[in-house]
Amino acid sequence: MHASQPRLERVLPKVLVLGAGMSGLVTARILKDSGFPVRVIEARRRLGGRIWTDTSLGVPCDLGASWIHGVRKNPLTLWCQSLGIEMRKIPRGSVHFWRSGEHHHLPYMLLKGRKGFLRAALTFLHARVPSFNPKNPAKSPTDISIEEMLAPLVSDPKLGKENRSLIWWFLGLVEAINGAPAHEISIREWDIMEYLQANAVPIGGFERLIEDAAKGLDIELDTSVKRVIYGDRGVKIITSKGIFSGDIAVVTFPLGVIRSKAVVFEPSLDPAKQRAIDRIGYGGVLNKAVLLFKRRFWPHGHERLTSLPESPQSRAVFNYWADFSRSVGAPLLVGFTSGKAAKGLDRSASDREIYERVTFSLKNMFSQSIQTPEGFLLTRWLSDPWSRGSYSYGAPGNSEKDREELARPVANRLYFTGEATHQEHYGTVHGALLSAQREAIRIHRRYCCNNYTLRNLPWM
Ligand SMILES: Cc1cc2nc3c(=O)[nH]c(=O)nc-3n(C[C@H](O)[C@H](O)[C@H](O)COP(=O)(O)OP(=O)(O)OC[C@H]3O[C@@H](n4cnc5c(N)ncnc54)[C@H](O)[C@@H]3O)c2cc1C
Repeated sequence: MHASQPRLERVLPKVLVLGAGMSGLVTARILKDSGFPVRVIEARRRLGGRIWTDTSLGVPCDLGASWIHGVRKNPLTLWCQSLGIEMRKIPRGSVHFWRSGEHHHLPYMLLKGRKGFLRAALTFLHARVPSFNPKNPAKSPTDISIEEMLAPLVSDPKLGKENRSLIWWFLGLVEAINGAPAHEISIREWDIMEYLQANAVPIGGFERLIEDAAKGLDIELDTSVKRVIYGDRGVKIITSKGIFSGDIAVVTFPLGVIRSKAVVFEPSLDPAKQRAIDRIGYGGVLNKAVLLFKRRFWPHGHERLTSLPESPQSRAVFNYWADFSRSVGAPLLVGFTSGKAAKGLDRSASDREIYERVTFSLKNMFSQSIQTPEGFLLTRWLSDPWSRGSYSYGAPGNSEKDREELARPVANRLYFTGEATHQEHYGTVHGALLSAQREAIRIHRRYCCNNYTLRNLPWM
């Protein structure tokens, strides 16, 4: 990161980076490139954390993150370009509805459900824009959950069956995007711009960036952190494989891991930080089912496929699909599940039961006689002890201030990165990367010098 050589007379602190996901590896890489002695400690036997490119089906499948959200001005785009990684842009707005082999375009469905969507939009404006709602005496935006906001609308008998199932479908979509049940998601997360941004898939999988970040780093895999002890004399990290000592530590664990108290901080984190940990939304799930077929039975160009839910409870249970055939060069479909039902499936359903839900959904969409897949993978990010959920989201009542508080260093010994610490781009890979850049600069300024440049970051 240096604009010129570091001042050699300064002894740089020994840094222990806890976790080897995107934020941990990028922090470690930037600090190492600036001359800091760095060691990374990771519980899993693999790198990447919530980035996980699996190749057991013979093609690269991303079981965690798969899209670069918002290609423009995204450091991930620059990084792919600098490594020569091809990116495949996903056509915007091309959602295809299927039921019993019959197909409808998104505009047709929007037109059909216009009454429900208009009323939903109006309900949202009433809650968020006080001037729109003369009955709001507080004159301040309401912060309730998306489910609470839409409950009166969906229970209105005048709404009609079709409009109602489109609203359920939309709620399920919001649950899939946020990786959480609608009753845990704040209406602040209802951001129409999110649906309009251009997304892209890095060909070969996200792992290629992880491999680049990890080059030359000293990493202990299969080593879970149990206790983080910090004080005047530095940090001591108690792990499943012994004690590691350093001057400072960078904590990159997912918020769910910190909240679960599976890692003990000594002394314990102060009440303000603990409040932030408890308030930020985390603990919902977005899971994937990956199916590899011999031949495609869905049309070319239908990259996002969906169906209306049979019931409110089954919304977001494998009725959103993405076709990755063009990105991986084989007929590959990925189905998503989220919301309340997904939490139950993650924790208590067998692989066989989930497989049956998956094929039931595909048969309802296309035909009862679809082929048996040649390969099948599924994820359980909620039961996974090293993630305990998929990613953070805005819960009712939490604010940007909570994320700022989560990111605040403790006693000049502990620094915090990770997607949940980024105020704007939480829940994403680039949010994790930008949080790493933020803390690496903070550490560099504090212990080395102000003489840094962003020009030699890996993605520049
Ligand atoms: C299913 C799914 C789909 C997603 N889709 C997208 C997408 O398309 N686009 C996008 O931008 N983002 C997506 N995301 C979010 C994205 O993957 C994350 O925001 C990002 O990867 C988080 O990086 P991180 O470094 O903050 O955390 P992590 O990657 O979770 O890194 C933290 C590391 O800490 C380790 N760890 C945990 N506990 C311990 C312990 N006790 N001791 C030692 N190590 C420990 C973990 O194993 C992990 O490696 C998705 C996530 C999921 C789960």
